[in-house]
Amino acid sequence: MSEKFDVVVIGSGPAGYVAAIKAAQEGLSTACVEKWLDDKGTVKLGGTCLNVGCIPSKALLDSSHKYLEAREHFDVHGISTGEVSLDVPAMIKRKDKIVNQLTSGIAGLFKHNGVTPIAGTGRVLSGSRVEVTDADGKQQIVEAKNIIIAAGSVPVAIPPAPVDGEYIVDSTGALEFSEAPGRLGVIGAGVIGLELGSVWKRVGSEVVVLEALEDFLPMMDVQIAKEAKKILTKQGLDIRLGTRVTRAEVKDGKVEVAYQSADGEHVEVFDKLIVAVGRRPRSEELLATDSGVTLDERGFIYVNDHCETEAPNVYAVGDVVRGPMLAHKGSEEGVMVVERILGKPAQMNYDVIPSVIYTHPEVAAVGKTEQELKAEGANYKAGTFPFVASGRALAANEPDGLVKMLADADTDRVLGCHIVGPSAADLVQQVVIAMEFGSSTEDLALTVFGHPTLSEAVHEAALAVDGHAIHIANRKKRK
Ligand code: FAD
Ligand code: AMP
Repeated sequence: MSEKFDVVVIGSGPAGYVAAIKAAQEGLSTACVEKWLDDKGTVKLGGTCLNVGCIPSKALLDSSHKYLEAREHFDVHGISTGEVSLDVPAMIKRKDKIVNQLTSGIAGLFKHNGVTPIAGTGRVLSGSRVEVTDADGKQQIVEAKNIIIAAGSVPVAIPPAPVDGEYIVDSTGALEFSEAPGRLGVIGAGVIGLELGSVWKRVGSEVVVLEALEDFLPMMDVQIAKEAKKILTKQGLDIRLGTRVTRAEVKDGKVEVAYQSADGEHVEVFDKLIVAVGRRPRSEELLATDSGVTLDERGFIYVNDHCETEAPNVYAVGDVVRGPMLAHKGSEEGVMVVERILGKPAQMNYDVIPSVIYTHPEVAAVGKTEQELKAEGANYKAGTFPFVASGRALAANEPDGLVKMLADADTDRVLGCHIVGPSAADLVQQVVIAMEFGSSTEDLALTVFGHPTLSEAVHEAALAVDGHAIHIANRKKRK
């Protein structure tokens, strides 16, 4: 039996490592158990996000975007480059370097703050104990006053398209191609499918995205989703909705994919196939039968609004619990839990969590969509502003997309903001702050925005809600 920690965190992804650092900063003795090892047997911190998720995907999105810009869009600025080529292995190497820099940064922060990393697989036992099994099968019991489970999620596998890691890959494999596949199939037009499909399309692949649902990005505002589909299709992504993949087989070094659509069964042949049909919580083999922690019907660890499980002093945060599978959601839950362990009345505002798709342009959202407000019968008002009317967007050759603002028609309080357009991720954050402060569109309208900025589009959309936008012809009656 080893030392008893104030906090033992299981998992070092953005939910777990943030909780561990926060706990240590607050003076709690803290350990973080992580099972992920690199080829040399060294523990890899950072979880999905840093190793095979947010960061590597954004590294490839940025490299491939620069390549596409140089190849196709520099000429409008009068720049001629001659032939532009891309060294894919060098692009992958740059991505790996960024990942290593960040994961070793977490190791440095653990050291600096005094978090004890423990390499091995953690299992929650009864009585606030964690069993840790290392790579050699050696077991130890770590005692904790509080346990924070942050075991994350893994890609969903579907029987019709078994991942072989070479021809049929999941999101992790799609970050490692050594060259652009000639023809690339993507199953799933969700966030990950669209981002990874975009990377390889820009690098030269012919990309076909097969999506079972009839609606494109159903969680996004319908108007924004429609615009995003138009823009991505114009970029050459072949997005086929209402197509359910029923079989994928590797034959003679190619992948034969059968799918069902309204007009019958079709077969396509690809060089590679990415399966991006969502993620599921990693909750199996994590809990002893008498741990007292329970799962919901979808395998998520059951928690209340404060991330408390059914077992005393055992919390769970991040992808392994309900809510959007987003890095920042898990990190904030981790901070909330540590504050509650310290006896503070911390809460999480689940209504104001931004989400982004890092295509180009980006698609970003916070709060309610128009279809949600309609379904609730809410009395709302909407304002939009297109980037084609933004001086900064035109100067940057980024005229596609729009900002849409939704507000309560009675109180004027901002209820949501949906953007497809340049730097949408950063623009929406301004509205996240406004919503967190309970702002009205009038507050945004009265705020001075620098000129010329893309942010002015947020200002104008707020003004447009009541027909006061300056740089477009308002269709709406002014109030
Ligand atoms: P994870 O990051 O999955 O970390 C869990 C950790 O726990 C892992 O290191 C795992 O090895 C460890 N672990 C699990 N079980 C045990 C155990 N029993 N014992 C010890 N260790 C254990 N989100 C965004 O917000 N923005 C993005 O742009 C974005 N892009 C993404 C792109 C891709 C390709 C993918 C796949 C995901 C992306 N996500 C993005 C989602 C994001 O990565 C996850 O929401 C986030 O990583 C979840 O954090 P987490 O800490 O809950 O779990
Ligand atoms: P997300 O959960 O946002 O990553 O999106 C995954 C997408 O994959 C969802 O929109 C699903 O409808 C889609 N999907 C799941 N199974 C299949 C399938 N067999 N064929 C095509 N699309 C699928």
